Amino acid sequence: MTPLVLLVEDEEPVRRLLAYNLRASGFQVAEAEDAESALQLVAEQPPDVVVVDWMLPGRSGLDLCLTLRRRPETRDLAILFLTARGEEADRLRGLDLGADDYVVKPFSPAEVIARIRAVLRRRRPSLFEDRIEVGDIRLEPASGRAYRRGRPLRLAPTEWRLLQFLLEHPGRLFDRETLLARLWPASRDVEPRAVDAAVRRLRRALNAAGEADPIRTVRGQGYGLRPPEAWSADADDRGQQQRLFEKP
Ligand code: CA
Repeated sequence: MTPLVLLVEDEEPVRRLLAYNLRASGFQVAEAEDAESALQLVAEQPPDVVVVDWMLPGRSGLDLCLTLRRRPETRDLAILFLTARGEEADRLRGLDLGADDYVVKPFSPAEVIARIRAVLRRRRPSLFEDRIEVGDIRLEPASGRAYRRGRPLRLAPTEWRLLQFLLEHPGRLFDRETLLARLWPASRDVEPRAVDAAVRRLRRALNAAGEADPIRTVRGQGYGLRPPEAWSADADDRGQQQRLFEKP
């Protein structure tokens, strides 16, 4: 899996240099010159990490960072910011306001890339792991294999992305628009109800007879993965009582 880095920097030589080195190191790169176009790119294709320069024309990097942290769909984004030497107050404020780390200008691209990797390891460990395991479900991204209780699962690419995203955020609830952007990042023509269909297909692939449904549906709000300890004891799902009694 190739992590997507969004670079937000108005100084073109700096942006170009970083973009070139990131691509050479195996990252995908999107570029923005200001906060507004950065937010637009984030909505179109959520990146794995945002690298934000503090000094931007118009809305500042600080403001962009705050906006990303406030929105539920980008709250967990990895954020690294770039700052000029000597601006210690800015650095402290940046970390206070939710950036994960910072790099002081002038920097070497290698330094920035090392920090990006470190931040991603904390925020998105599954990008680096060869398996994601939650409850009795196991995903092996490198080999493309998925299992529940050791039983191989047959998942189409959309269901795979949905399952991986849910497994990375157990206990959280996501609205259909957020899931839509995750599942079909490049497309603007997909209807929100396609998410419902993907969830239905995932449930069919995931749940054998007698197994608890790990996916939570909250009407009007969205979907999420229950924390594994709640997979067999939940009250807000119709049919649950029956399932409890059916259990051996
Ligand atoms: Ca700048």
